[in-house]
Amino acid sequence: MVRVRYAPSPTGFQHIGGVRTALYNYFFAKSQGGKFIVRVEDTDRERYSDEYLKDLYDTLEWLGIKSDEGPTVGGPFAPYIQSERLPMYQQAAHNLVKMGKAYYCFCSPERLEQVIAEQKAQKKDIQGYDRHCASLSEAEALERIKKGEKYVIRLRVPETGESSFDDLILGRIKRKNRDVPPDPILLKSDGYPTYHLANVVDDHDMQITHIMRAQEWIASTPLHILIYDAFGWTPPMYCHLPMVMGSDGLKLSKRHGSTSLREFKEQGYLKEALINYVTLVGWSYDDKTEFFSMEMLEKCFDIKKIHTSPAVFDYKKLDWFNGQYIRMKSSEELASLILPYMKKAGIQITREEINSYIPLIKERIKVLSDAPKMLSFFFSEPQYSEKESFLAKKQPIEEAVNMLRVAKEVAKGNEDIENSLSEYAKENAIKFNNVFMPLRVAITGSPISPPLGDILRLLPRETIVNRIEKALDYLNK
Ligand code: GLU
Ligand code: ZN
Repeated sequence: MVRVRYAPSPTGFQHIGGVRTALYNYFFAKSQGGKFIVRVEDTDRERYSDEYLKDLYDTLEWLGIKSDEGPTVGGPFAPYIQSERLPMYQQAAHNLVKMGKAYYCFCSPERLEQVIAEQKAQKKDIQGYDRHCASLSEAEALERIKKGEKYVIRLRVPETGESSFDDLILGRIKRKNRDVPPDPILLKSDGYPTYHLANVVDDHDMQITHIMRAQEWIASTPLHILIYDAFGWTPPMYCHLPMVMGSDGLKLSKRHGSTSLREFKEQGYLKEALINYVTLVGWSYDDKTEFFSMEMLEKCFDIKKIHTSPAVFDYKKLDWFNGQYIRMKSSEELASLILPYMKKAGIQITREEINSYIPLIKERIKVLSDAPKMLSFFFSEPQYSEKESFLAKKQPIEEAVNMLRVAKEVAKGNEDIENSLSEYAKENAIKFNNVFMPLRVAITGSPISPPLGDILRLLPRETIVNRIEKALDYLNK
């Protein structure tokens, strides 16, 4: 039975790379008829915040990723929050000491700093803890603990040999034990485990079969293998996921654009688009299929198809997917999705009223938060910012003014404005754009807008005439 876990640390808002890790684990579990477990790795208390933990739960819920076991649903290995499992790690660490695989260290932070400073000054090739307490006898150590001395527990890293593991994506990976940092801390003086200890103990206890996690953790894996060895446990299978990069080849970060799921969500990316696109960052089914629903991925996700090379997060491609998914929505659904964005932009509009505007934007909107901008001129007067913006290509301003005068007369009558002006353009051999660009800017304030004909049919005649007058005043100033 496949058992995988998503094990985030609530030290920030859910990053889109983390979301991908969650999705891959979830899809892999589903496709194998296995279990998807959520485990909160909250042992870094300094960077922890309740807000981040809530963001984790909100993210999974919004995406529709249901856990089979985890903090919100419980399960046979509860608790699934590391800070509630401290006695287990303490017990495990002390067991290792008894087995001779770990030892108590009483060195003060000052002493450790001094050791490192000396190593640096002497340019030693191995830097780190000098194994000062490795040879203390157990009796002596227990005596000092009894007296109330503070201690940590450190792993005894073998000084020779090597540790290796098979990664399902990257193949066999080996590391000389002497290259593993000497004797890392497993249990801190405040009784908290380090990430390494807690991670290994939990993956073992929770019977995890495959560890799918970001490639940035691969540097820790040889140490984890040593911890499994020390306990006499068999490590799970590993599958380190390709890094998520920006277009410049650097790890995806703020400088590239949004990175947290909540930002994408706020901007109005649909979960369907995010799930589809994010899954394709580093995975593909074949070289042609682009559209994947959650249900499809739950069936066809295949670990062997994860790419080995780093993946580039392409914001434009995500926009494209989002547009596609928006257009797949019914107008009703889209109206419901857009309504909150209108409200947030201060536009008071009812669910009924918004319906008539949906056809205007459905074919061109990229993210839901674009809607208020695209429709703002329906609800407030357009502002004109430069005369040139009214002009079609190479159009003299006098002609633009003229076209607005013609449009004004047409608007005062009863005929369909768009049709009448098209006729006028044909009869007088004037390019359509030379007729409609000045009008578009007069009505909407922008050279880019939803189809003008539709706008003219929705706005009251009086408003149209007023705006044309206002634009004429502006151009004649
Ligand atoms: N807590 C680690 C993280 O925040 C998990 C690493 C792992 O999956 O082993 O990414
Ligand atoms: Zn020590």
